[in-house]
Amino acid sequence: MAELGTHIITDRDFSRSTKLLPGERSKRKEELPIIAGIVDDMATFVSQYGVSPLPLGLKSIHLIRDLDKFVKVTGNDHVFNAAAEFDAERQSINVYSTANQENYPDYLELALQISHELLHMYSFYSASLLSGHLERRRSGLWARDKERMRQYTSNTLNEAVTEELNKRFDQQFLSKPPHYSYGFMCSVKNRDFQRQNIEDKEYAEDIAHINWDNWHTYSYGTDRHKLKLLIGRIYGSNPDQFTDSEAVFNVFARAYFTGRLLPLARVVESTFGQSSFRRIGRIADDLLIEEYQKKR
Ligand SMILES: [Zn+2]
Repeated sequence: MAELGTHIITDRDFSRSTKLLPGERSKRKEELPIIAGIVDDMATFVSQYGVSPLPLGLKSIHLIRDLDKFVKVTGNDHVFNAAAEFDAERQSINVYSTANQENYPDYLELALQISHELLHMYSFYSASLLSGHLERRRSGLWARDKERMRQYTSNTLNEAVTEELNKRFDQQFLSKPPHYSYGFMCSVKNRDFQRQNIEDKEYAEDIAHINWDNWHTYSYGTDRHKLKLLIGRIYGSNPDQFTDSEAVFNVFARAYFTGRLLPLARVVESTFGQSSFRRIGRIADDLLIEEYQKKR
């Protein structure tokens, strides 16, 4: 559907993907097989959702020694060691890190940041040509203009689906041999060992990486919990339509990768009523409040 005065572009231009960025450092010997392995394995992972590989390589991933710049540009100061972004204009992934991350590397954290951004990259993408420059219009379940965001969904769901896919990627590829490097294998083994000692299995499974003695869960915990509540309600209301809750998650995942929202809108509306899809963000918030009140 064309918007007035704009051109919608779904083709991607990878010509700037590998160009060096200011402050970029070269990848260390230990990092090379990890990054190359993740780029390859992600192409295999997304093929399970019917997505074709993108022309990406080691050089599409940029490691930049400037976390302050990331904080300044994004306004996101909830970062400690490193942060990453999918740069839609260049079709690259930029990882910003501190000297701390460089000197005491947490390879699993680096891997999970890159795989999270690769998922954003593989999700449905379209841009608009606005007075000569490209502006991201849709990215996964995210939409630029507020009206669309209200109509379809919000960034909450977009990040929740991204990180839930990342968790599945981790289970299928990062936790299994062949491991990318010795340092990487140690990070994974350490995490998996610590997980075994935790009684609450659901919480244990949500631990993504451990650096020093700090446990870090997969990101966007609250958003993922809201998604889980939505999925639970949809599954409960449509037991004949789905074999399990993963089948419901796959409807979200397909919308995320293909950009086709109608099948998702249908299951949401059969559960929460007519025109409910445009309120899905609000419905997810209400489910969280409802759960909290029940627990009190
Ligand atoms: Zn993200």
